[in-house]
Parts: sequence; C-alpha cells; structure tokens
Amino acid sequence: TLELASITKDFGAHKVLSGIDLAIRDREFVVFVGPSGCGKSTLLRIIAGLEAATSGRILIDGQDVSDAAPVDRGISMVFQSYALYPHLSIFENIAFPLRVARLPEAEVKAKVARAADILQLTDKLALKPGQLSGGQRQRVAIGRSIVRNPKVFLFDEPLSNLDAALRGEMRVELSALQRDLDATMVYVTHDQIEAMTMAHRIVVLNKGRIEQFGSPMELYHHPATRFVATFIGQPN
Ligand code: ATP
Ligand code: MG
Repeated sequence: TLELASITKDFGAHKVLSGIDLAIRDREFVVFVGPSGCGKSTLLRIIAGLEAATSGRILIDGQDVSDAAPVDRGISMVFQSYALYPHLSIFENIAFPLRVARLPEAEVKAKVARAADILQLTDKLALKPGQLSGGQRQRVAIGRSIVRNPKVFLFDEPLSNLDAALRGEMRVELSALQRDLDATMVYVTHDQIEAMTMAHRIVVLNKGRIEQFGSPMELYHHPATRFVATFIGQPN
C-alpha cells in the first residue's frame, strides 16, 4: 500500500495542499482529477520525492519514505513531455537508467527486451525517437520506467499530447500494462473519460483538499459534495 498521511504543502503564503490522507492499495489504478491549479502535479511530485511536503508522511508498505531519495522509493514517474534523448536509439533510451546503474550488458538486454515486448516496441529498438509516432514515444518513456521494476507508477497527464485515436488506444494499453505488471498506478488527468474508464478509484481534488475518493460509479451515482456532482457530471 501507498499511504499519504496529513500531507500539506505551502508555497510561501499559498496553501496548495491541506491535510491529504489517502491509502492506495497494491495493484490499484487510482486517478486524480480536479480543476487546474488544485495541486494534482504537486501531490505527484511529493509522492515521487521530487518535491518536499511542508508536513505529513508518505509510507510504502508501512515504511516511512518521506525522507528517502526518489530512486530509493520504488516509484517511477512518467512525464507528459517524454524527455527522450533524440540522438540515442530506442533501445538506449529504454536502457538509460540501467546504464546509469552500470548493469551488465546481458541484464540490460534482457530487461529492455522484456519492456519492449510488453509495450510492442520490439521492432522499433534500432530507430531514433524522431522516427516514432507520439504514442510510440510515450511507450518508450513508459519502457524506461518499467526496466527499473517500480512498485508504483506515477503518471502526470501522459496522454494529453496525443490525438483522440491514439489516446483511446493508449488508455487500453495502460490498463493492460497495470494488470500485466501487477503494478500500482497513480494517474493524473483532465480527461473525464480516462478517469471513468481507467480508474479503480478516483480522487477528486479541489483547492488542495480531497472532496471524495471512490469508484467511478460511486462518484457518479453518489457524489459526496455538490462540487463532485458538478465536476464528474461535466463532459470535460
Ligand atoms: P494543472 O491541472 O493545471 O496541471 P495542478 O492541479 O497540477 O494543475 P499544480 O501544478 O500542483 O496544479 O499547482 C498547484 C498550485 O501550486 C498552483 O497554484 C501553482 O501555481 C502552485 N505552484 C506549483 N509549483 C509551485 C512552485 N514551485 N512555486 C510556487 N507555486 C507553485
Ligand atoms: Mg498539473
């Protein structure tokens, strides 16, 4: 489980997150939604360890990781801008974290091959990022996360740069990936369809607080607040 206990975040006088309590189960696909500026990305960055909370704790399987470095948390963050290296092959882009960790060549090859197989990139490994489609490039970025065997994946609007058709395809692929890897996924999106179709449970954030945490059907049929009713009810 991934537990957030009383997480707060202030930027100067601006309280961005106030008292976030949340317990995410293993192998759960949890989607964060909420208006622009409500603190979704900030919360993901705090979970990843890229940003320090003002107060509160993060626990993974009961272990306090609040002070652990990002690489020591077993968490991997996939960004909206894929941040691929244009001059490196797809193979080397996926292998990058393993090269940094100085893994032996045979292990690098095995891990990249497995990631490429899962993400259907096997026939693209010799190409450069510029020769791939947007969806394929996004999959390379995910591949780079997979090779590190994280327990938890964090996604911040990973599909927002893609066209509608690719987005639909990638939604299905990411849901399948979660099942294949038995991974916990925490996913931020502005897209209501993504939230309703991909999430096991949805967190509705508003002004740095959790309005409701529940299954898509619970939120739709039993919104806890007027805000949730309006937010979930609107097409986008
Ligand atoms: P969006 O849906 O637009 O991506 P968000 O919910 O991800 O929004 P955040 O990026 O978490 O919102 O930002 C929440 C608030 O915190 C915003 O008001 C933002 O201006 C503020 N904020 C974020 N990072 C910083 C920072 N480094 N310094 C000061 N304020 C910040
Ligand atoms: Mg954001």
